[in-house]
Amino acid sequence: MVRDVIIIGAGISGAAIARELSRYRLKVLLLEKEAEPAFGVSKSNSGIIHAGTQNPPSSLKGWLCVEGNRLLREELAADLGLHFVQCGQLIVVFDLADLPELDKIKAEGEALGVKGLEIVDRAWLDAREPNLGPEVKAALYVPSAGIISPYRFVYALVENAVRNGVRLETSSRVTAVRRRPEGFEVVAGGQVFRSRFVVNAAGLYADEVSAMAGAPTFKITPRKGEEYLLDKKREHIANHIIFPLPSKTSKGILIIKTSDGNPMIGPTAHETPDKEDLATTDAGLAEVLAGARRMMPSLDRSDIIAYFAGLRPASGKDFIIRHEDAVPGLVNVAGIQSPGLTSAPAIAVMVAGLLKERGLPLTPKEEFHRLRPRPVHLFQVPLEETARLIEKDPSYGDIVCRCELVSAQEVRDAIRRGARTLDGVKFRTRAQSGRCHGGFCTTRIIKLMQEELGLPVTAVSKRGPGSELIKDERK
Ligand SMILES: Cc1cc2nc3c(=O)[nH]c(=O)nc-3n(C[C@H](O)[C@H](O)[C@H](O)COP(=O)(O)OP(=O)(O)OC[C@H]3O[C@@H](n4cnc5c(N)ncnc54)[C@H](O)[C@@H]3O)c2cc1C
Repeated sequence: MVRDVIIIGAGISGAAIARELSRYRLKVLLLEKEAEPAFGVSKSNSGIIHAGTQNPPSSLKGWLCVEGNRLLREELAADLGLHFVQCGQLIVVFDLADLPELDKIKAEGEALGVKGLEIVDRAWLDAREPNLGPEVKAALYVPSAGIISPYRFVYALVENAVRNGVRLETSSRVTAVRRRPEGFEVVAGGQVFRSRFVVNAAGLYADEVSAMAGAPTFKITPRKGEEYLLDKKREHIANHIIFPLPSKTSKGILIIKTSDGNPMIGPTAHETPDKEDLATTDAGLAEVLAGARRMMPSLDRSDIIAYFAGLRPASGKDFIIRHEDAVPGLVNVAGIQSPGLTSAPAIAVMVAGLLKERGLPLTPKEEFHRLRPRPVHLFQVPLEETARLIEKDPSYGDIVCRCELVSAQEVRDAIRRGARTLDGVKFRTRAQSGRCHGGFCTTRIIKLMQEELGLPVTAVSKRGPGSELIKDERK
């Protein structure tokens, strides 16, 4: 079968492109090397839906961020049942002499079309952010910024794309992309797939995939960000996402509300040559704590319950989204560093446009399923609603993860929606994300996965082959 489009990479970029193309009468294949979507950069970030400030008005990422933010707020959050919290953002200064810098960010944001920006004084901040430290003097208030669960954003897009006919192949690493007169041959997971167009959304590996196809035109340099998650008992420490004034290379150390309640502090921003270097470090922890405590001195090291690092797939300062004329039919979506999570819906529309310009007919489907029902998350529903759910289905009352209040039915639902690993269940439901790090619930989840998927216990893994938890010593 010759597909219309093969998309390489099921992170937020590939997922959004797949969902956008699924509106049209096209045969689309989404290839992902990992056991599940969202296991690349898109799982390890701050989850901020940026408003669009802190990007030069001349940048591609500036425009895509503002449009991505709009698409999420006005369409996707409701259509895909996403839990988006528009909590707003504050960019704080420690010296009133820096107010002109805030004015500049405000003017640049307004040039990009960001609405509602306002410079606020200490009295405004005292009324709304009582935990800010005495060093903070004023801030730029950015109301359209918010937070989301980054992996659930990817899963929602992929689920909806698949519902609309996109084929997803996981554990399918692309090892060759060959241009043939009639289109492409893409080798992945030992199979050969054919298509008229290829979209390369391979994140950290986009340079290697582009070179495979014959367009070695850019290099990805990973920039590591370490993030530190705090206990839910500090849930109300901040009401906004709080930024300091940005530096030339990073937005600085932030205090981030997350959509699931645990505040987070970070990320660092340091280049690393290694695309698999996800280690957190003592130096990173010290940098993050010092930066966050300058804004909120009551933050304490003992509040931290978990940490991770992500690698920004950077190539220069802007995104690279273009058709490669040297390889007709290849569209590169590369260098998608921050604000890539926010920009993805707008990137997807742009890519559809690039494909159309090169001859891909975009004929709308008669029946496009725009809506995706919101999965139940007990930790987000009021108690009366929980009681009603349990009455309908008692397995909502069978609590598997006590730290995060996740029931057996939610775990089953996650597996039915596509979770194939323990991390896949964790990212979809939060089971294993609390203080005990899965100490109590992992064995229950393994059992549920066995029941649902008919797997032997030795085949249940944390994140795919090689990360199985239980070995059969007789073999
Ligand atoms: C610490 C940190 C904080 C951030 N915070 C924010 C934020 O708050 N807001 C925001 O908007 N952005 C943020 N970002 C940026 C955002 O996370 C990225 O822009 C975005 O996740 C990139 O998505 P992607 O789909 O392009 O890449 P990825 O998510 O990496 O997806 C690429 C996929 O391609 C797959 N792949 C690679 N090679 C192959 C191959 N050969 N064959 C098949 N599949 C392949 C990978 O496994 C991966 O799943 C942050 C990034 C970091 C690191």
